[in-house]
Amino acid sequence: MNLWTRSALEPYHFSQIEFRPEWCVDNPETGFHYSSGVIPGKLFYTSMGGLASPEDMEQVIRTLTAIFSDGQFTDCRYIRIADYTKVIQPPVQTRIQYANALNRLNKSHNSWPETTYVCGASPLLKTTLRLFALYVKQRFYFIDTIDKAFDALNNTRKLPSETYASGSMDLSIREVEEFAARCGKLIYEQDTPMPVMLPAIGNRPIDELYKIIAVLNADLRELLQKEKMHKEHIEQALEQARQLNEKLGNEKRLVEEKERELKTVVLELKAARNQAEAANRAKSEFVANMSHEIRTPLNAVIGMCELLLASNLDREARFFAETAHNSAKLLMQLINDILDFSRIESGHLDEKPTVFDLRSLIRELQAMMITSTAKKGLELISTVAPELPELFEGYPVYLRQILINLLQNAVKFTDSGVISVTASAISVTPETARVRIGVRDTGIGIPDEMQEQVFQRFTRIDSTEVRQTSGTGLGLAIASKLVRFMGGRIELRSRENAGSEFFFTIDLATAKRDGPASVQLLEGSPAEGAIAPDVQPDTPQESIQEPAGPSCCLPAVRILLVEDNLTSQSVASAMIRKLGFLVDIAGNGAVAIERLKTNAYEMVFMDLQMPVMDGLEATRNIRKYPEMLVNPEVPIIAMTANAMEEDRQRCLAAGMNDYTSKPITLRTIAELVQRWAPVTPTG
Ligand code: ATP
Ligand code: MG
Repeated sequence: MNLWTRSALEPYHFSQIEFRPEWCVDNPETGFHYSSGVIPGKLFYTSMGGLASPEDMEQVIRTLTAIFSDGQFTDCRYIRIADYTKVIQPPVQTRIQYANALNRLNKSHNSWPETTYVCGASPLLKTTLRLFALYVKQRFYFIDTIDKAFDALNNTRKLPSETYASGSMDLSIREVEEFAARCGKLIYEQDTPMPVMLPAIGNRPIDELYKIIAVLNADLRELLQKEKMHKEHIEQALEQARQLNEKLGNEKRLVEEKERELKTVVLELKAARNQAEAANRAKSEFVANMSHEIRTPLNAVIGMCELLLASNLDREARFFAETAHNSAKLLMQLINDILDFSRIESGHLDEKPTVFDLRSLIRELQAMMITSTAKKGLELISTVAPELPELFEGYPVYLRQILINLLQNAVKFTDSGVISVTASAISVTPETARVRIGVRDTGIGIPDEMQEQVFQRFTRIDSTEVRQTSGTGLGLAIASKLVRFMGGRIELRSRENAGSEFFFTIDLATAKRDGPASVQLLEGSPAEGAIAPDVQPDTPQESIQEPAGPSCCLPAVRILLVEDNLTSQSVASAMIRKLGFLVDIAGNGAVAIERLKTNAYEMVFMDLQMPVMDGLEATRNIRKYPEMLVNPEVPIIAMTANAMEEDRQRCLAAGMNDYTSKPITLRTIAELVQRWAPVTPTG
């Protein structure tokens, strides 16, 4: 739209301008003030006075932005009237700030000042603005007053014009020299006063040049000053960066040092762990050796007692022998417990999962405990949930050991009432069953504050008279470790003087019967020696089916006993003889082979550790050259001191047929003979 045509019809007037308080800035501290007003889309009026600081200018720019955001000048060409009557020399920085902001706002709102009327500018300001005109891409008209600006605006013919006379100008040499001198002063003198203060500037055109040079000089100085500040800032930042870098370097060195220290500590820890492991191994070996050393003579004591008890004794002698026998068996149980515990503690759980029948296991335990419960007048009952399958795969040896410990405790700490073993089904699927097994008694109970402690090793509650019973306090510690091995946790519910229940829940895989061989035969299990037999003073000799002896109707069974220890030799041979069999003794493996070459034996009992040739080597030789023996298929039964799984495996691998752990008893000898060299009556 043609502004001039329009304005001719409808003249602009100052009173049409709208002013708003938010479009004004006043700083009483610096004396700076700025106000603006608009005729929307047509005229933008601004008035400025005082000396603008950069902060003031920022406020002014916020005001400008508000006006443009308000949509006062969008997609238009407008007239600008700037009243600079009260402006003191503005610093170049603020000028640039203001001009940049206005340019940016114009551009983003697609608006443009067609003409800018600058009113009341001092000659110096005019010069400054002229220098600036090209930069801000605006056309400036310099007019004395605002009224004249409106006149010019409303009357196209009264276009403002510069008042300078055009044409040539004469300069004298003196003037040129003076100009050069002044320029030199302006440029080179550091503290040249502001151009307004320049003396003797008249109205000659050349004076205009002075002013331009002076303004340029002032602006340059300001810019230089700013650059200097920038440089200082950069240097400061660089210095900070350098310091930071140095700090980082130090940190890095520190971290590296810590890493080195850590590595050393790790190495030390590894060494310490190796040492600890070695010490632990040494401890386990020591315990194993010690118990072996103690067991050998103890076996002799137990064996001799058994022999003694099997002979004709008067009541008093029988009482003495029984007491000695029971004490020796208790001692053996203690040693077994300690050995078990140290083995379990060092992670030596060497059982492999096998298929077993939970009902038979519990029945068998019940039978085993019946003597001791009957003796105290206790009732012993067992229940197995009918929904539980017949066969499981698991650790029957450990399960038995746990239940024996719990049952022995129940009997020990109950004087009247009922002891019950219960296996209940928590959940059953075709593949697994979650089984809760508990042993409950109606005994003395355990006080609340002691309930945590009883699972710790060597813990016994001895406070009351009732508890003055035998035991080392290892039973529950062993049981709880074994339960944990099977993935459960042993728990206790007990009330003093009312009774206790020890129980645990384990997951067991169900198994199918695919041949009787896969079912572990619990009776006569090789691990039985590791489990404390219930103390039943009257049982063994009663249950042994003693053969009547070789002179009777049975054929003589001839047994070779291979054993180096003299005490063990005499105990075992006495037992064999007592059972009515014939026995020869060989002191080591080599002697045994010689005997087997010339004699017909039905069976060999073979010790493992012997001088000259040990049991394993002897067996390997025997099995390698069967043709040199009188009885090439003679069964060989190992007598192992401790029924470690590895030992058993090694025995079988060497070619032995069976194994029994020491102490050998009349009962085991009788059973083994029955199994491997059955005697059939000849009539
Ligand atoms: P060990 O089992 O080594 O021969 P112990 O029976 O004394 O000795 P634990 O079986 O570990 O050792 O039992 C620890 C203690 O917990 C027992 O001494 C006893 O005081 C208490 N205790 C265990 N079972 C019962 C129970 N059924 N009733 C009451 N107290 C019990
Ligand atoms: Mg116990």
